[in-house]
Amino acid sequence: MKGEAMKFHLLIFMVFLVTLASAASFPSVIIVGAGMSGISAAKNLHDEGIKDFIILEATDRIGGRIHKTEFGGHVVEKGANWLHGAEGPLKNPMYEIAKQIKLKSFYSDFSNVSYNTYKQEGGLYSKEEVDAALDMAESNEDYAEKISERFNAEKGKDDDMSLLAGERLNKREPKTPLEKMIDFYSFDGEQAEAPRVTSLKHIIPRPEFSLFGEGEYFVADSRGFESIVHEIAKTYLTYTNDTVNDPRVIFKQVVKEVDYSKSGIVTIKTEDGKVYTGQAVILSPSIGVLQSDLISFKPELPFWKRRAINEFSIGIYTKIFLKFPKKFWPTGKGNEFFFYVHERRGYYAIWQQLEMEYPGANILFVTVTDDESKRIEAQPDEKTKAEAMEVLRKIFGDDIPDATDIMIPRWYSDRLYRGTFTNWPVGYTTEKHNNLKAPVENVFFTGEHTHAELFGYADGAYYAGASTANEVNKLLKKKMSPRLGSLYWWM
Ligand SMILES: Cc1cc2nc3c(=O)[nH]c(=O)nc-3n(C[C@H](O)[C@H](O)[C@H](O)COP(=O)(O)OP(=O)(O)OC[C@H]3O[C@@H](n4cnc5c(N)ncnc54)[C@H](O)[C@@H]3O)c2cc1C
Repeated sequence: MKGEAMKFHLLIFMVFLVTLASAASFPSVIIVGAGMSGISAAKNLHDEGIKDFIILEATDRIGGRIHKTEFGGHVVEKGANWLHGAEGPLKNPMYEIAKQIKLKSFYSDFSNVSYNTYKQEGGLYSKEEVDAALDMAESNEDYAEKISERFNAEKGKDDDMSLLAGERLNKREPKTPLEKMIDFYSFDGEQAEAPRVTSLKHIIPRPEFSLFGEGEYFVADSRGFESIVHEIAKTYLTYTNDTVNDPRVIFKQVVKEVDYSKSGIVTIKTEDGKVYTGQAVILSPSIGVLQSDLISFKPELPFWKRRAINEFSIGIYTKIFLKFPKKFWPTGKGNEFFFYVHERRGYYAIWQQLEMEYPGANILFVTVTDDESKRIEAQPDEKTKAEAMEVLRKIFGDDIPDATDIMIPRWYSDRLYRGTFTNWPVGYTTEKHNNLKAPVENVFFTGEHTHAELFGYADGAYYAGASTANEVNKLLKKKMSPRLGSLYWWM
């Protein structure tokens, strides 16, 4: 009898080994996307001992929306530019890495709006006029904070309103072009969408400031903001010099299908006909990608999930870089930014000169958002250059030279992004956001959009990746434990 039991236990053990071997023949986890959240997810899996992941990335680089590029002989950022986290209660891990690698970043001094705001047809507004509009914006923000506090205190309710409704209730709706420009600077300049569509409760108070402090630091370093992503990746991926050289990271793989129809297995198909199989997948592409038809699901994602994806919002924020043969704008302390007021909201409104960051480079950039971004992405660069020059001539006079070069990132037209960063739309409940990050069987979702407070930011992507990896890790452990459990039970 004892011998029979032994044989039986041996048989069970063999079955266990075969099961393990077949599980090991494909990776535990497939991560789609090597942006900040995908790289952070893989690091966390690695730290938990799950090293048999693969990362499928559509482009030939890691970093995603953190992307340096060459312009006018310098390295500038087409995507994320500002770091948070120098002086708040919470240490921002990204800021800490930036400190370690001595990444060059510059405190952005936004305090000069009163002195540098130009009229549509030229000439400066008086300090008193701009201060009155700034007071209005401050009053609106204070009022929004009170309402937000009230909404957040109402347990069990999920009440909200738009930022614009808050301004109206405060009897301070921006009406004049100057007031609208300050409103644009305060909200659209950060959320990339207008107060009309933006949630008051989820934007005010601004979590990035309450968590990390109000200072914002502009990265201008030849290694790029993306060197922070590489620093994280280097802790677990193999590199040759400064290039990822790890067989687990497979570049130029555009995922087009996620098949989770077989229990416990997920099959990924790419546009070049490759098929990858894993026990779970983590999808990190932007919500703009998930809202498009680039990736299809088999079976179709459930309605609650599709609804959560399609109701969230991604804005467009475009930094248009211009290079000049000489400098014609004021520089030095208090002149980092200048502002242009136009009857069309957000028309070439926020300008920044980069003399401090790139001395002698004669580079300016202007920020546009949302519909203006779409319009500009769709037109030839020369047309945009002519529009920008017209604005600059209104401000600085006809004698200024033409820009010799222009660079316009096209994040919205790019099918791998379809926007720049997310904004919480009014009416979008916390329950929907929970659905946005919730897995569907073994299909997991990460990315900046899944972070409930720091959505939109690289910090949010960093934390989101870690949190999703944690969920996946739990699933894999749970999948392993019945097998181990049954083995122990028989022994
Ligand atoms: C213009 C701009 C300015 C910004 N400014 C700031 C800032 O100042 N500070 C800040 O903190 N944040 C800023 N952000 C936001 C920040 O860059 C993002 O929140 C963050 O980088 C998002 O990381 P992610 O991993 O969630 O997504 P992504 O970076 O988009 O990574 C997803 C990856 O998936 C890949 N992918 C997409 N589709 C597929 C597919 N089908 N198959 C395979 N791979 C695919 C993409 O190529 C990408 O590499 C800015 C972003 C932009 C664009």
